Amino acid sequence: MVATSLASATELIDGSSASPASPPGHVGHRSPRKRRLTAHQLTAIAHVMQLFVEDDLALGVSPDASIRCPACERKRPRPGAISYGRYFICTGCATEFEVARASRGPLSIGQYIRDKQYGESERYALPPALHQGPP
Ligand SMILES: [Zn+2]
Repeated sequence: MVATSLASATELIDGSSASPASPPGHVGHRSPRKRRLTAHQLTAIAHVMQLFVEDDLALGVSPDASIRCPACERKRPRPGAISYGRYFICTGCATEFEVARASRGPLSIGQYIRDKQYGESERYALPPALHQGPP
């Protein structure tokens, strides 16, 4: 199912320094299943996630409330946390998940959480500008 993307991701990681990083802004040949998002698209996704935070706060969710995110396995702010099926994940992870889905194609929340828990979280690392980790 995800064999193709898994294989290419592993290849990138195992290739260590041998694989040259693409220059920023470089867009290779496009395929419908996998593409590099533009900075604008990444910002748009992060912006939508921020709207969930504002929405929750507007609805009276306490800014001090927290959840335990099943993906990053950390205590994270409740405002902005998003429910995907039976999983309730933090804003930062939801951003990673949405970016991954937008750039790589179909990805289930279960697959994402498994990848995060089994040491493949670097596959989902966001550009530093979008990283929403703890301050
Ligand atoms: Zn998380």
